[in-house]
Amino acid sequence: MTLLRRLFLFVLLTLTTQVGGVIYLLHAFLFVRFGKQGKPKKLKRRISFVVWYLLICLLVVPLFARLGGRRALPVWGMGIRPQNVITVLSNRHYVSTAMYHLVTDVAKTYGSSKTEGSTRKLCYLDANFPFIEGFPLLPHLSHDDGNKLDLAFHYYNTNNIHRNTNQSPGLFGYGVYVPPEQTEFDQVSQCISSNKYYDITKYVGLRKDGGKLQFDERNTQRIVELFVDTDVTKIFIEPHLKQRLGVTSSKIRFHGCHSVRHDDHIHIQID
Ligand SMILES: [Zn+2]
Repeated sequence: MTLLRRLFLFVLLTLTTQVGGVIYLLHAFLFVRFGKQGKPKKLKRRISFVVWYLLICLLVVPLFARLGGRRALPVWGMGIRPQNVITVLSNRHYVSTAMYHLVTDVAKTYGSSKTEGSTRKLCYLDANFPFIEGFPLLPHLSHDDGNKLDLAFHYYNTNNIHRNTNQSPGLFGYGVYVPPEQTEFDQVSQCISSNKYYDITKYVGLRKDGGKLQFDERNTQRIVELFVDTDVTKIFIEPHLKQRLGVTSSKIRFHGCHSVRHDDHIHIQID
């Protein structure tokens, strides 16, 4: 039973954090080898695993990832932040060196104009894992080479529309949609009729803002336009948002009904 439980935890940690499974096995081996027996062993073991995990992920993994050509996106950098700290704690914020420079350059430009309240920040969601070409960052099968990144839309607070907020309405950054209006082309419904999983992200669309945050067309358009002017080769958003934002570049494409809906985030990639 212990072996099965360990195997399950190893697979789960590997799929969700990539290096967590290896850290878990290493820790289990060393704890059994050198740990002292006694009643509080279980609690001690869990605490020491968490400490190990955090130390290795925050201090060691970024160094080794760089040797393999991937860099961790900044957590407190100018004009950039993760939408959710879990993205960072689970090593889901790594990109190739080319993508790193591209994104941080856009973030500096985006964050350079001060608005009331605070500096605007580019808010990133899932990127890639730190190691191994072809190792997908589930559930995004294409995020496997360092050259893919998801970004949050910008929102404004309806309680004070003049004051900048860098918050997003969803707890996890996905699943809170900006659906088509009646006059807009409804690609979403068409895709749902052929792929019932097209809106599967609705199950993680937990709102944390109490309905206060609204889609900010002007700043989201600015984000898309800034990336159009870079070496990014493809930008995926739903067709009705491309229409609403008035962005026309051929880089902005429809991702296809086999994917999931993209009216809750922007996907960018370089080939
Ligand atoms: Zn993506």
